[in-house]
Amino acid sequence: MLLVIPALRDDYPPEVKAAFDRRRRATLTGRCDCGGTRAARRGRVVHEHELDCPARDEAFGEICRRHAGLWKGSL
Ligand SMILES: [Zn+2]
Repeated sequence: MLLVIPALRDDYPPEVKAAFDRRRRATLTGRCDCGGTRAARRGRVVHEHELDCPARDEAFGEICRRHAGLWKGSL
């Protein structure tokens, strides 16, 4: 299994850092702080999270959109 772990930059806003770090740890360990776990879906590895988890794809995307434009770079 190939795991892609993006770098966490110091200039990310704290809210982004927290969600980003949670996603990284979930990828590395297979288990998120919310209790979600790694699962295989249609040949892809996905992470399942609780609805209020900031590492959830939808929540993480919303956090990133809220902070878009505050710094130059990519997530
Ligand atoms: Zn989670």
